[in-house]
Amino acid sequence: MYCRAGFEKECAAEICDQATQLGISGYARAKPDSGYVLYVPHDPAQTGDLFGQLRYRQLVFARQLLAVAPLLTALPVGDRITPLLEQVRAMGQQFGTLWLETADTNEAKELSAFCRKFEKPFAIALQKAGLLVDDPELPRLHLFFLGSAAAHVGLSTLRKSSPWPMGIPRLRMPRGAPSRSTMKLAEAILHFGLERWLDTGQTAVDLGASPGGWSWQLVQRGIHVTAIDNGPMDKALLATEMVEHLRTDGFHYRPKRPVQWLVCDMIEKPSRIATLMADWICEGHAQQAVFNLKLPMKTRFEELARCREIIRQRFQAAGLEEQLTLRQLYHDREEVTAHLRRRDTE
Ligand code: SAM
Repeated sequence: MYCRAGFEKECAAEICDQATQLGISGYARAKPDSGYVLYVPHDPAQTGDLFGQLRYRQLVFARQLLAVAPLLTALPVGDRITPLLEQVRAMGQQFGTLWLETADTNEAKELSAFCRKFEKPFAIALQKAGLLVDDPELPRLHLFFLGSAAAHVGLSTLRKSSPWPMGIPRLRMPRGAPSRSTMKLAEAILHFGLERWLDTGQTAVDLGASPGGWSWQLVQRGIHVTAIDNGPMDKALLATEMVEHLRTDGFHYRPKRPVQWLVCDMIEKPSRIATLMADWICEGHAQQAVFNLKLPMKTRFEELARCREIIRQRFQAAGLEEQLTLRQLYHDREEVTAHLRRRDTE
């Protein structure tokens, strides 16, 4: 798994948890600040089982999920291709795409120039060997470089992995957006596949809206927003007349009429936000919610489990079933982003 540097412990806890649930025992290797985690089943024969059953979308901290062969080290400077090609051949299958990647750390990024240079000759060698063919349906081949002489050869399947190299979506900061936070909602919309539900003429409430990066994303899609924040909203955004700004407390505000969307970026205790979001959906004030949970440094994984449980219990008490997806987005720092809706609503 690739992850945000500094979140290896959480990524490891998550994969161990998932593996245990699938009846697989093993251990995680997670070097602090390395930007990746390796999970090793005690029985190597179970690697395929684990990989087959794991759902990338259910993982919160993993940006990418690969099945990898053991690390190849001491790749000869003059001929890295031969040992790497041998390893690929040993995987016994063809691939449709080749990605050369590194961890998302400053040291690892120094390797990206090398990766760019090495990509073409390696792709040609793979094509000549019949291992890389023109079929986009086939699995992806990854070379994950830890140094110019050390790499893991791995594969990902298209439907169960991130569609972006290094698990990082390429999004540009849109011109005219009031804050960089806008990128978080843009990425959330992409990752949770929300575009299919977003539509012109819908209504939304944005809790903790100032200066308006999240509201801006909604307005761009023709959605009318009620923006709740004591802080000021961007003037150009207000000039669109698509945003009503109310200076009031986001924990007490409720809309007079139900809205399609609730978004919330208030910096508050995660359990308070989880309770508020569950209340809104269970009471029918909004159909779907997208929100941030700012996690405390030392107990991130535990706090997340607590928030999940708060939401589960609130839905259960209301006789409803929740659909909750959580993800640490690329644009998230000490936080994760959530999408919540009732399971039975379309
Ligand atoms: N999403 C915004 C954007 O894209 O521009 C940035 C939001 S900023 C991270 C958090 C905001 O939450 C602050 O403007 C703060 O005033 C607001 N906030 C915090 N607690 C609040 C509360 N109880 N009610 C309303 N707003 C609150």
